[in-house]
Amino acid sequence: MNKTFELREILKIYQEFGVRFLEIPPENPHRQMMEVQAEILHCRKCRLHEGKTNYVPGEGSLRPDVMFIGEGPGETEDKFGRPFIGRAGQLLDKIIQKMGYPREDVFIGNIVKCRPPNNREPQKDEVDACLGYLRRQIEILAPMAIVCLGKVALNNLLGVNLSISRVRGKRLDFGGIPVIPTYHPSYILHKKEKGEISQTKWEVWEDMKKVIEIVRQLKIAH
Ligand code: URA
Repeated sequence: MNKTFELREILKIYQEFGVRFLEIPPENPHRQMMEVQAEILHCRKCRLHEGKTNYVPGEGSLRPDVMFIGEGPGETEDKFGRPFIGRAGQLLDKIIQKMGYPREDVFIGNIVKCRPPNNREPQKDEVDACLGYLRRQIEILAPMAIVCLGKVALNNLLGVNLSISRVRGKRLDFGGIPVIPTYHPSYILHKKEKGEISQTKWEVWEDMKKVIEIVRQLKIAH
């Protein structure tokens, strides 16, 4: 029997028993996320799994206002299986705190879930193999805003080829979710001159103020 026909027949029986409406149980983000994480933890879709110590699926709130997306795990993240916990992560934590969130109230993920060797950029086929996980994570989390940290996160998530210094702080879009690109925290850490460091930090903060405003407006609208 065809599934739709079968369902219609079942609903008719319910109707005969006086049932007037059926409540569809709400989606369970916890279960859905556990499914994605479990798949990631067994992934062999690309060569990156061969060199990794731990998979780094991402972590944080399952109903976040803001989701941060980086490039891929570095050495410390690979060692502990958690995103952004090295030096760049400590800087990201400060940014998140300054935005008014405890780290656990946002979600932090990456384009690829395994560390590329010697922290090189993930290659196209590695990104292609991994991106489905991130897309599913975004769908489950439905964040009010996404922050792309650096050009690798931005260009791979949106499938574009933009210069981060040109588009940082601009409101872009991923399936209806506002996306604000900003510099990767490592970019700030690699700056040598004091003046350059504070200029870049100031620019990142300007971008984050836009994120705060987007979330504020969306909360008013709901
Ligand atoms: N850099 C990233 O892009 N992601 C991490 O998780 C850590 C450093």
